[in-house]
Amino acid sequence: MAANSELSAGTSTPSLASPEQKPRTGCVHTQLLHAFLEAAEVVAPDEDVIDDLLADLHEAAVVLQDDDANALEVVVPEQEAGDGDAELEFESEHDPLQPYLLEAEQAWTDEEVKDVLTYLKEYGRAQFLKEYVVTRSIPIPTLLYAFDIVLCKALRSKRPKTLLYFLDIGITRELERREKLPMYNTVDDAVALIKNAQRIIILTGAGISVSCGIPDFRSRDGLYASLAHSGEYLLNDPQEMFDIHYFKENPAVFYKIYPSNFTPSPCHRFIKLIENKGKLLRNYTQNIDTLETRAGVQKVLQCHGSFATASCINCRAQFPGNYIETEIMSHEVPVCKSCPPILPPAKSVKSKKKKKKNASPWENDSEEEPDVPAYPPGIIKPDITFFGEKLSDKFDEALADDRPRVDLLLVIGTSLKVSPVSEILTHLRHSIPQILINKTPVRHVNPDVVLLGNADEVVQHLCRKLGWDLPELPSANGASNLEAVHPRPRKRLSEEVDVREPKRVGNSHVWLFEGAEGGKWVEDLERKSLADSLETSDEQEALLSAGTSQPSKKARTG
Ligand SMILES: [Zn+2]
Repeated sequence: MAANSELSAGTSTPSLASPEQKPRTGCVHTQLLHAFLEAAEVVAPDEDVIDDLLADLHEAAVVLQDDDANALEVVVPEQEAGDGDAELEFESEHDPLQPYLLEAEQAWTDEEVKDVLTYLKEYGRAQFLKEYVVTRSIPIPTLLYAFDIVLCKALRSKRPKTLLYFLDIGITRELERREKLPMYNTVDDAVALIKNAQRIIILTGAGISVSCGIPDFRSRDGLYASLAHSGEYLLNDPQEMFDIHYFKENPAVFYKIYPSNFTPSPCHRFIKLIENKGKLLRNYTQNIDTLETRAGVQKVLQCHGSFATASCINCRAQFPGNYIETEIMSHEVPVCKSCPPILPPAKSVKSKKKKKKNASPWENDSEEEPDVPAYPPGIIKPDITFFGEKLSDKFDEALADDRPRVDLLLVIGTSLKVSPVSEILTHLRHSIPQILINKTPVRHVNPDVVLLGNADEVVQHLCRKLGWDLPELPSANGASNLEAVHPRPRKRLSEEVDVREPKRVGNSHVWLFEGAEGGKWVEDLERKSLADSLETSDEQEALLSAGTSQPSKKARTG
């Protein structure tokens, strides 16, 4: 392989490019350490791996300080040396990576590298490690050459766990680079994929519930923005609402968003339709509104939990969601009856004192104490995952089960910002077709067909093409009283909707439906696609006039 640099530029691990950009080989070790430490933000190794690398860095700095007056300049790789060619010459003569660069070039052929990376993208990290590290016993420094990573001498002798972390950086970077499948580009391709698929994973986010009246979190008029604007609650950042530590102090703000009188959207019904057709492997939803369930979907995993159940944050007792519905509808904080009550805040002690049945002996002390918490420890919190809480094991288990089985991925109404759900796209076999349906482009992934617009419109268009009708909602039993009081105008059925054909962006795999917000990304894509097709027609003309019958280069669609 052509390992012309010690590390090549990555996508989300750009720091790995730094040793290449800064040819001060006198501190290759330090530069590699910096790059590997920076990559920890993406790959997240255990603490002891970080400690291992930091210890090295410290040692390197001490050595340099001892024999180099400009030690700081050398230790911090951002600072370019201005002091001349002499040193650079000296370094290139003594390039500590040189022998390994030669070794890297001979370690793998281009074909072998391709095989290694394809294996990884098809079988995933765990199977890859099993095959290449365990079964084939390929030393990690050698394996790293296939990922364009060359270790210096000091780093080659690191313990296995640290070496494995280096390999994980390469693996993560490679998995982030899914190549678009060139054979799928059009809406008709998407329709055919859905029609022929047997086991579809549908990944959904806030975008499928916006039309139900549930505000999404991140948009301009979203929940975070309106909370910040109202100034009603003192949040440094509206995301604090979903921070478990903030919640324990200020539970009230969270109960503002309890989902109550909402009706599933055409998107929810589309998921149910796929399930009715026997094609739904699983719906992974990031939403907590349980509207999938209201639409009747059985195979749904609420990745961030849901309001379907609630638990006491103190004694962990679990309750059905409707147990706390009354309090929540009146914006009160529900409290666990089996947990000890706490004294009310000082200012309201007098008014509430009479209601208390078992006044505790130190109650009088608390009257002088201004910092009494407003809530008892036993608050009942819906079982949704907050920041600072671990995602349930169900997610990993489900994905492990589904990975070998899925044959199509549909992503609807999410910009894939929150991990680990966002990582499903890189985690699945890269040869599995991916269709994205969203209002805006999602730039950090590379789906095969991109349908931009209001998700409801897009799925209804697909239904018309498929000749399928969205199922009716399961009525009566799931409906709450509020729905009866405030009935929403019934959504028109797919066949009643005006037929408006989507617009293709140039000759690309991106299509614009009603409500699309493609922005500059789409403009650039259109320009590029146009330039490519002009180039292609020029080539065709040239070939025709030259009288050859060679096929012309296919227009790029990625
Ligand atoms: Zn409790």
